[in-house]
Amino acid sequence: MYARPFIDSLDFAANGKQIDTQVPVAGFSRLQDVLDNDQGNLHYQLQGSKDNQGRPALDVSIDGNIQLRCQRCLHALDYVIRHDARLLLCDEATLEVLEDEEEFDGILADAHLDVLALLEDEILLNLPISPMHESGACQVREAEDKQEGKQHPFAMLEKLKRK
Ligand SMILES: [Zn+2]
Repeated sequence: MYARPFIDSLDFAANGKQIDTQVPVAGFSRLQDVLDNDQGNLHYQLQGSKDNQGRPALDVSIDGNIQLRCQRCLHALDYVIRHDARLLLCDEATLEVLEDEEEFDGILADAHLDVLALLEDEILLNLPISPMHESGACQVREAEDKQEGKQHPFAMLEKLKRK
């Protein structure tokens, strides 16, 4: 059983702590809705840091492969995650200010931060909204192309009417 990691986020940032490990894709429950299957692992690194104004931050890095579902043919679609982000740790007031700034994203500082939930948010926010195979690789598109090669029954009727 995979132990769900929690951190004291401000302490983690202040002391430059680091987590560098792998997590099974199956460990992300909300992600399952957009996945074809839960095979594989994701590698992530969480590094306590601060920005150039000395504000506490977490540097998040996630990489690995997941299997999304193609929105055209509904078959598995390999997707490579390479995501890096700096998240400033804020109180609620600062978080509102940050939303206008838009240089960095902020999250609420939390003494019991659920690391997997944080990673999952980052993954979900950065996935394509409507993932699809490239047209040559998509099974639906190939089926449609074959159809187009044949005479459509209604097209035949049109020809008959014109005679
Ligand atoms: Zn497809």
